[in-house]
Amino acid sequence: METPITIGNQEWCAFEALNIPAIKARIDSGAKTSSIQALNVKRIFVNGVAWVEFEVNPVQDNRSLTVKCKAKVIDSRMIKSSSGISERRYVIKTNVRLGTHEFPIELTLSNRDQMDYRMLLGRQAMESFIINPSKSFCLGDYSPTEVRSFYKHLIKKKSGLKLALLATNKDLYSNQRIMEAAQARGHEIQFLNIQYCYMHMDAAKPGVRYRGGSNLEDIDAVIPRIRPSMTFYGCALLRQFSGIGTYCLNTAESIAQSRDKLHSSQIFTAKGINTPVTGFAKSPLDTKDIISMVGGAPLIIKLLESTQGKGVVSAETNKAAESVINAFRSLNANILVQEFIKEAQGKDIRCFVVNGKVVASIQRQAAVGEFRSNLHQGGVASKVKVTVEEKRLAVRAAKVFDLAVAGVDIIRSNKGPLVLEVNSSPGLEGIENATGKDLANQMIIAIEKKLGYKA
Ligand code: ADP
Repeated sequence: METPITIGNQEWCAFEALNIPAIKARIDSGAKTSSIQALNVKRIFVNGVAWVEFEVNPVQDNRSLTVKCKAKVIDSRMIKSSSGISERRYVIKTNVRLGTHEFPIELTLSNRDQMDYRMLLGRQAMESFIINPSKSFCLGDYSPTEVRSFYKHLIKKKSGLKLALLATNKDLYSNQRIMEAAQARGHEIQFLNIQYCYMHMDAAKPGVRYRGGSNLEDIDAVIPRIRPSMTFYGCALLRQFSGIGTYCLNTAESIAQSRDKLHSSQIFTAKGINTPVTGFAKSPLDTKDIISMVGGAPLIIKLLESTQGKGVVSAETNKAAESVINAFRSLNANILVQEFIKEAQGKDIRCFVVNGKVVASIQRQAAVGEFRSNLHQGGVASKVKVTVEEKRLAVRAAKVFDLAVAGVDIIRSNKGPLVLEVNSSPGLEGIENATGKDLANQMIIAIEKKLGYKA
C-alpha cells in the first residue's frame, strides 16, 4: 500500500486550466469544500451551457496582478454574507496540482472580503493526504521572486513614467494598493514621506528635494495622500510640485478647500449643491437662533476639524444642543450646527469619483445605537446601486473643488440626496473589498490620461 503523503497547514497549488501556476492555499479541515477568491464573477452561456468568467489575484498581497479565468459551472448556491445580503456562489470543477500530485477538485468561487488566503483547501480535497498542522509547504516552497516570475507576463513593460506617492505611512492599505497598481501598469513609483521632502525657493531654479539631497524634478506626477494633520505642509509641497510643472492628482487648493467644512459648505451653497441645512456662529449670544435656524433639535454638531466621525455629536433636545454648543465654544472650538437627517437611519453613501465619473459606490450602515456610519466608528460597508441623481450630485461636488479623485459622502433625505462632505484622500480598503473593484488602477489610469500617456 502506498504511504499517504503529508501536507502542512499551507501549500502551493497550481491550476493549469485556469492559468494559475502558483497560489498559496491554507489547508482548512474545518471546511468541507475548497474555495478560491474570485472577483467580477460573471455567468455566461457557451452553447447553452453555463460557464463563469472570473478574476483571481493569485499573489497574496497584490491586488493588481489579475488572472482572467473561465470554467464550467457545476453548481451554484445562495450564501448569506456577513453584511446579511444573500449572494450566489458558483462551484466549478478543475484539476489542482500540489507538488507532483494532480487530482480534480470542486472549488467555490468566493468573493469573501479580506480572505487571509486567496485559497482554502477543504476536507474533500484532502482525503488522500495526511495533514501535519505544525508544518507548512511540505510539497515545496517558492520565494517571492519565483512567484513574481510566474506572473511577470501580467506586469506591463516599463512605461518610462515616473510617479510619486506623497504620504506618511507606506504600509497603509491604500498606499500599498496605489504603489502596486502603478507598478503593474509599468510605471516607476517612489514613496515620498511628506516629512522628508523639502523645498528650494529660488525664482531662477525652484525645486523639491528629498532627504539626503536627491532632486525630485523629474517626477511626472504626484499622487497626494495627505493625512489631515499634515494638510498645511503637504499642500505647500504640492504647490511646489505644481510650480515646477509636476502634475498633481488633486491640487493643494482642492485639498485645502474640501477639508475646511465651513468653506466647503459655503462653496456648496454658492454652487447650488444641496447639503443639510447648516449654521455657524461665533458668539454664544446667538446659540438659540442658530438652533432654530436649522429647525431645532434633534440636531448635529460638528467640529470643523472632525474626520472619521470623531468630532460629530447629536443633540436630542434644544437644551442639550445649547449646552453642547456652549461647551465647545468655551473650549474655543469652531463648530457647525446642522439639521439631523433622521430618515437616513444611520446610513450614508460613499461615491468614489475619478475624473468626473462615479467608478464605485458603497453604502455604510452605522452600528446599532450609532448615527455615524463611518467605518472607523464601526459602520459596515456594502455595495449599493446609486441613482442617476446621486451620481450627478457626487460628480458635481467633486467638480466644484476640481478634485480628480474624491470620495463624496451623500445622505438620503426626504428632500432628496444631500452632500455631507467631499474627501480628497478617500480610503480604498472598505470600498474595494465591498465592490471588488480595482480603484487604485483607475487612479493610475486617470494620471495616464492627464499626461497623454498611451499604453
Ligand atoms: P467626518 O468628516 O468626521 O466623517 P461627517 O460630516 O462625514 O464627519 O459625519 C460623520 C457621519 O455622521 C456621517 O458619515 C453620517 O453617517 C453622520 N451624519 C453626519 N451629518 C449628519 C446629518 N446632518 N444627519 C444625519 N447623520 C449625519
